[in-house]
Amino acid sequence: MKILKIDHIGIAVKNLAESTRLYEMLGIQSTGSEVVDEQKVKVSFFPVGDSEIELLESTSPEGPIARYIEKNGEGIQHLALRVDNIEVALEELKAKGIRLIDEKPRYGAGGAKIAFVHPKSTGGILLELSQRQG
Ligand code: ZN
Repeated sequence: MKILKIDHIGIAVKNLAESTRLYEMLGIQSTGSEVVDEQKVKVSFFPVGDSEIELLESTSPEGPIARYIEKNGEGIQHLALRVDNIEVALEELKAKGIRLIDEKPRYGAGGAKIAFVHPKSTGGILLELSQRQG
């Protein structure tokens, strides 16, 4: 398994349009927004150098981002690392006794294959592994 780079930092926000304006004031342009039904979120990506900032707004009061904001308020919710092969990475982490939220990858924004690692195994950080096609 090979970690290629910090793919993105996921930030939970209450209002995507409002937060988008804030980041655009900083001079960072969004590449557009997308709804990921499976995770009950609407997301926007803001490329920054070789990585991105991902803003996430919940589309349902029961979604993971709504629950996160209820508990912690708005802020950094996860850190995503890009891997070369997500299936291999998950096998390897599992073999090392690291607790996974997703044993198998699912599809995230932009068609990326993603899987989450449990914060209990990573010092409190919700870690997302991400593999992009091409
Ligand atoms: Zn993410």
